[in-house]
Amino acid sequence: MANTIIKFSGVNKRYGETMALKQIDFELEQGKFYTLLGPSGCGKTTILRILAGFTDASAGTIEFKGKKINDLPANKRKVNTVFQDYALFPHLNVFDNVAFGLALKKTAKKVIQEKVLEALRLVQLSGFGDREISELSGGQQQRVAIARAIVNEPEVLLLDEPLSALDAKLRTQMQVELRQLQQRLGITFVFVTHDQGEALAMSDEIFVMNDGEILQQGDPVDIYDEPINHFVADFIGESNIIKGRMIADYQVEILGHQFECADAGMRPNEPVEVVLRPEDLVLTSLEKSKLTVTVDTQVFRGDIYEIMSHDAVGNEWLIHSVRKSEVGQQVGIYFEPEDIHVMRFGESEEDF
Ligand code: ATP
Repeated sequence: MANTIIKFSGVNKRYGETMALKQIDFELEQGKFYTLLGPSGCGKTTILRILAGFTDASAGTIEFKGKKINDLPANKRKVNTVFQDYALFPHLNVFDNVAFGLALKKTAKKVIQEKVLEALRLVQLSGFGDREISELSGGQQQRVAIARAIVNEPEVLLLDEPLSALDAKLRTQMQVELRQLQQRLGITFVFVTHDQGEALAMSDEIFVMNDGEILQQGDPVDIYDEPINHFVADFIGESNIIKGRMIADYQVEILGHQFECADAGMRPNEPVEVVLRPEDLVLTSLEKSKLTVTVDTQVFRGDIYEIMSHDAVGNEWLIHSVRKSEVGQQVGIYFEPEDIHVMRFGESEEDF
């Protein structure tokens, strides 16, 4: 990779009997926004802690710009962390919170003044230096925590679920702000979340994790459109995952009917699972469709109707439809060949 800043090779972490990380390999490029996404306990925070130097890896190598840093103490790394609870000092005002690290390093007063004001400007808190922490909103406290991290001019900023304490509206606003800030600063962000919507909205690249492993790495559109297995398809967005069988290179059988699909690179007869996203399903008349479902519930969401339905063998189908239907009605479902995503069946089961 051209501008690799961080490289993990064969990184394991064991806590007693628990393997928190199993053979983690990845490279991070300079200036990109990365997200570690996965359910609670999958190892996201452990990766951040190893990167920051707060925890040692049990095995493997961590490199920063080509140099091994396994034994480099946290305060010598060009990496700063923004914690979930912000960890601000309540007895210091905004300016002193941001200045804290620099003062500790005995930086000259004039330099501290310049750097803190610049950091506050970057997070759009110019003029807030004299405020007490208790006088700030959640979003403003969040920005002070970020200012305190970027004032040290890190090359990598680690953010551990920094938006989880905010209400839904502020959270959406901060997602946009954080993304813009990362682009302004041009430094590498490694962001941890278990919220897939947040990951899709903010990242250049997402690492989907489960049980100490990275299952898939890719940009948000690839991860959404081409999930590698059942776990990823189910975790990212909403999906209908139906069992099927390959017929030929561009043909898959679902529920006894053949459908065209993109080439999935699998052998004829191979068992597969297909992923169909609710927004790609269109309700049609029964005559025009091979697939028929019965509507169980219908909820109006403003822009769409959210329809829960089932087919003849009991698969549940979620459909986002612009057209209304009736509970109890039988309807046809239509979708385009490019909207079927085929995954190998079997491997996916091991990922739970
Ligand atoms: P969350 O989203 O809940 O913060 P996470 O994905 O960040 O979860 P980690 O905190 O990295 O997960 O934990 C990974 C695994 O390692 C979990 O099984 C956890 O219980 C275990 N673990 C983490 N820290 C320790 C520790 N200090 N001692 C023992 N086990 C630990």
